[in-house]
Amino acid sequence: MIKVENISKSFLQGNNKIEILKAISLNIKEGEKVAIIGPSGSGKSTFLSVVSGMDKPDSGKVIIDNQNITDMSEDNLCVIRNEKIGIIFQAFELINSFTAIENVMLPLDIALVPQNESYKKAKELLTDLGLANRLDHLPKMLSGGEQQRVAIARSMINNPKVIFADEPTGNLDINTGNKVIELLFNLIKKYNKTLVVITHDLTLAQKMDRIFTLTDCNLIETKTHELHI
Ligand code: ADP
Ligand code: MG
Repeated sequence: MIKVENISKSFLQGNNKIEILKAISLNIKEGEKVAIIGPSGSGKSTFLSVVSGMDKPDSGKVIIDNQNITDMSEDNLCVIRNEKIGIIFQAFELINSFTAIENVMLPLDIALVPQNESYKKAKELLTDLGLANRLDHLPKMLSGGEQQRVAIARSMINNPKVIFADEPTGNLDINTGNKVIELLFNLIKKYNKTLVVITHDLTLAQKMDRIFTLTDCNLIETKTHELHI
């Protein structure tokens, strides 16, 4: 489902070119759940930005669902991102002036789906996530866990093939984080999604099919029993 071939990425910091990703390759199968762990600043978010098409690699390519997203025009890439990819962020990134259900409907509004249809889908997802009685709440009226559940619904509304999550529990306490992950996993299973999660939470990493550690610009596969919790 996701093929990463030899991607490299560096940033200019002042006059220095800093290498962040160095010839990384990785294949992720449909329905697989993969964790990326590693120290702060090791390049995990950069990797996710490149693989999800939010940023371009300096070299190498990314193929999602048999489509090379690296050479694509910005217009085509927008379509692919809207149709095939869902993203969940640490800080939820909801639109403050939109209600919960309006936030979830937004990707379908952008795709020009009729509102009665998008409302129905958004309501179904929010109900799956235990938020049936929060549809018309603004983000500021929701707890952190509830906001992240709205963000999860938004990431899935377009029925994407792949969900990327960048430290989805990073702003939540342990119990809330565990609950949010349980709901996310239920949906991933119900709709057979491929999931890539960046996390500091090794207990969460252990629940995934494979774990990779980003270190020294490379991804190293890490076995569950090698994790020190
Ligand atoms: P992580 O998510 O593992 O904490 P990041 O991918 O956010 O790491 O960042 C990796 C490194 O790349 C850091 O040193 C960061 O400062 C640098 N970096 C990230 N984005 C940019 C950018 N747009 N311009 C310059 N440097 C960046
Ligand atoms: Mg990060």
